[in-house]
Amino acid sequence: MTDQSASVQRHTAIIIGSGFGGQAAAVNLRRLGIEDFLMLERRAWPGGTWSQNSYPGAAVDVHSPLYSLSFEPYPWTQMFAGQQELVEYTNHVLTKHQLHEKIRLNTNVTEVVWDAGESCWRIQTDGQGAFQAQFLINASGPLSTPVIPAFKGRDSFKGRSFHTNAWDNGYDLKDKRVAVIGSGASAAQVIPAIAPEVKTLAVFQRTPHWVMPRADRVFSTFERTLLGIKWFYKILRIAIYWSLEWRVIGFKYSTTLLNIIGGRAAVKHIENQIADPALRAAVTPNYIIGCKRVILSNTLYPTLARPNVRLHTKDDGIAEINERGIRTLKGEQLDLDLIVYSTGYDATDGAISYPVKGVGGVSIRDQWREYPRAYLGTCLPGFPNFFVVTGPNTGIGHTSALFIIESQMEYIRRAIAAVQSAKARSIEVTAEAENDYTTMIHREMQKTVWQTGGCHSWYQSKSGHVIAMFPGFSFSFRRMAKAFKPSHHIIH
Ligand SMILES: Cc1cc2nc3c(=O)[nH]c(=O)nc-3n(C[C@H](O)[C@H](O)[C@H](O)COP(=O)(O)OP(=O)(O)OC[C@H]3O[C@@H](n4cnc5c(N)ncnc54)[C@H](O)[C@@H]3O)c2cc1C
Repeated sequence: MTDQSASVQRHTAIIIGSGFGGQAAAVNLRRLGIEDFLMLERRAWPGGTWSQNSYPGAAVDVHSPLYSLSFEPYPWTQMFAGQQELVEYTNHVLTKHQLHEKIRLNTNVTEVVWDAGESCWRIQTDGQGAFQAQFLINASGPLSTPVIPAFKGRDSFKGRSFHTNAWDNGYDLKDKRVAVIGSGASAAQVIPAIAPEVKTLAVFQRTPHWVMPRADRVFSTFERTLLGIKWFYKILRIAIYWSLEWRVIGFKYSTTLLNIIGGRAAVKHIENQIADPALRAAVTPNYIIGCKRVILSNTLYPTLARPNVRLHTKDDGIAEINERGIRTLKGEQLDLDLIVYSTGYDATDGAISYPVKGVGGVSIRDQWREYPRAYLGTCLPGFPNFFVVTGPNTGIGHTSALFIIESQMEYIRRAIAAVQSAKARSIEVTAEAENDYTTMIHREMQKTVWQTGGCHSWYQSKSGHVIAMFPGFSFSFRRMAKAFKPSHHIIH
């Protein structure tokens, strides 16, 4: 229903974001019988991560039958789907579940404030008016707002530059002098994809990542027919799920096992793919495998060994960016046509892309001053009816992020159902329950390679706490999410 007179659009629920998190939330609202909802999306197109990241080589790193929504199987053409197929899948989900009509594009949420008098959220947007909703689901994405470090002289460069998150597909790479800054998952995909086309490629690597072989394969027509059978798809998902889940034993309980199985295979991968001892040394990390996200690639190392590609390690890093290109720490001037920033996201301290003010005007930024925290990574005391998809400590490196997103939906659905069945207006987690949960998370985190593996990664917030990861088996998270505890909540 829309109240034009007050020019505030009122809805039972509003979802911020239209990626897989937003899509899963929409389908789950419908399961509760809530049809009166909207999805607000800041971009001119729907779909989140995969619509946004169109850089050459972009692809998922988790087997596609598992990296798909459980309620929407798909006859994938290959094991690790490329970006275009992921966009096709996204559109398939949006169309099949009639979500296009629920999405308001070009609607950037700038602030949300809890109205205690009316027990609802007031939502401000950039030029698209104000909205009001009883329930607010933030699905603004953990890796949605890119970060470009303030390199000295960054804005003086006269050539082209863009982040991998905002690739200009109209830009002709042929015979160009290019630099890629960064060595994470996106860099590992874009470097092999563009190296054959460009004239020269300078790769700036602050710290190397461990890289493992990528067991990708194209599915045959017969296999795709099998993927079209629901029970087969389900069994395959279960098989892939368990084949990945055991890795948590290494990440959390045994770095010895991690080194024996993962570390040795990764060293072998370097030896198999790189002949030059200096290059081998340059790409070999000095921390335990798993501490940073493990990259899957069969093409990165051979690309770094190409004659037109040069790897600049930390001691030969960026002194400054200038009009012509980059001056390195060793004093060399690299003249460039294009600088690609593959410098990641703020997945911890800046995880919610707009200010949120809860009960008494307290902001999440203040509540998270020390470090981001939330009960089940999803809700906070003082923020009734507000649910954060992919919130603090819900990230997962060894399996599909969509498994965790759908687990959060199990909790969100039960929380909203509790309000509905009590004929109440709002639900809020107690401070005690949130505190117990967060204490448990960071106690468990002490056992993990992400906290103790000897690296600094984007998993950590400024405080040093690991925020981007869940410290345990993904099935443990799902079990907790499903076991809704009324005593942990206040229902008004
Ligand atoms: C390059 C890349 C590769 C990845 N690979 C993998 C992988 O291999 N495996 C894996 O499990 N995960 C991977 N991920 C993580 C991926 O983000 C999640 O798997 C999943 O897509 C997250 O979905 P989401 O809906 O939560 O967020 P997103 O897909 O990021 O969607 C968030 C949406 O919210 C919108 N939004 C943000 N702020 C606002 C605002 N203020 N107002 C309105 N709209 C807003 C954004 O524009 C965006 O469309 C990858 C991420 C990236 C960036």
